[in-house]
Amino acid sequence: MSRTTKQLYKDHKDNTIGRIDKHGNPIKFKLSYEEWLRIWEDSGHFNERGLGGYVMGRIDDTGNYEVGNVHIITHAQNNRESTGGFKPNQLHPIIECPHCQKAGNRGMMHRWHLDNCKQRKL
Ligand SMILES: [Zn+2]
Repeated sequence: MSRTTKQLYKDHKDNTIGRIDKHGNPIKFKLSYEEWLRIWEDSGHFNERGLGGYVMGRIDDTGNYEVGNVHIITHAQNNRESTGGFKPNQLHPIIECPHCQKAGNRGMMHRWHLDNCKQRKL
């Protein structure tokens, strides 16, 4: 049996909770089921979702999933936006700074945290 549309919405929401964006801010999922569905339907790509097809991405991959900040783009396009041109595995996993507990992708954390953290005790 295929998953219902409502389950797809719930999966998307559940997968978002706990994630952070490229600036280290928690991503909130603020779309209601109706809003989420309308965005997909308006795109005309509802039946082409997923890997190799279309995904719902945040504009510039920052901010929350909310009306006005999401668009339907191809999966490949989404990967480019989310990584700024780097390969995904160069940015994942998320690293937590042991000095201030802020979490972020590897590039950002090495630049601003870890050995360079302002809160690092010398
Ligand atoms: Zn730090």
